[in-house]
Amino acid sequence: MSWKATVVTLFPDMFPGPLGQSLAGRALENGVWECRTEDLREHGLGRHRAVDDTPFGGGAGMVIRPDVADAALAATAAEANIPCVYLTPRGRPLTQADVRRYAAGPGVMLLCGRFEGVDERFLQARGVEQVSIGDYVLSGGETAALVLLDACVRLLPGVMGSELSGVEESFSDGLLEYPHYTRPAVWEGHEVPEVLLSGNHAAIAQWRQAKAEETTRERRPDLWSAWLARKNGNRAAAV
Ligand code: SAM
Repeated sequence: MSWKATVVTLFPDMFPGPLGQSLAGRALENGVWECRTEDLREHGLGRHRAVDDTPFGGGAGMVIRPDVADAALAATAAEANIPCVYLTPRGRPLTQADVRRYAAGPGVMLLCGRFEGVDERFLQARGVEQVSIGDYVLSGGETAALVLLDACVRLLPGVMGSELSGVEESFSDGLLEYPHYTRPAVWEGHEVPEVLLSGNHAAIAQWRQAKAEETTRERRPDLWSAWLARKNGNRAAAV
């Protein structure tokens, strides 16, 4: 059975977009996953099919109406056990753990916002998860939805060439990944770290672990603290 992505959007033509190419595209063709869209506009009100209205309390911009969002959600007839996710900068940050959870399930229902966003009452009443792809503001949720889908689809069984590459990559163990090098061994006078040419697999693994720790400590103090706490916790539990 395929993994089902259902996207509620004002711009259905943006899907599958870049995910129709490469590994994800091949998986789509092979039925590993499905990408359906529900056009929010079709559930708009009146002659102009209005989906939004002015914000209560005043202020700039428009807000997507709860009744319109709800009609679109109902029309998807998405299975009850599929998580419903609204992409928003107000959401909790998307992590690889979320991605693994979504990919392990039957699929996801994604709601793409526009304007100032979606009426909060709808999100609360329907138990919609609110997820952000980063601390910046996009013009709409569609590109964020594509990011989330890309991250999920590559984890579906059989999509990635080497299953091992998913196990070793950044975030899989709480650390950023070690750096990579390929031929030529010397490029513009820059040499590949000697240990990688040594054929000594234990030494290579040790070097990679040290580099993963160093990079995480330097670039992501948040991940580094969490990793240290987990490591120390595990050590304490083992004593
Ligand atoms: N007024 C909103 C705020 O400040 O939180 C921003 C609205 S933004 C212009 C329009 C839509 O883009 C949002 O409803 C959301 O669906 C999407 N979006 C923007 N930035 C995002 C992010 N970092 N992560 C996920 N979705 C985002």
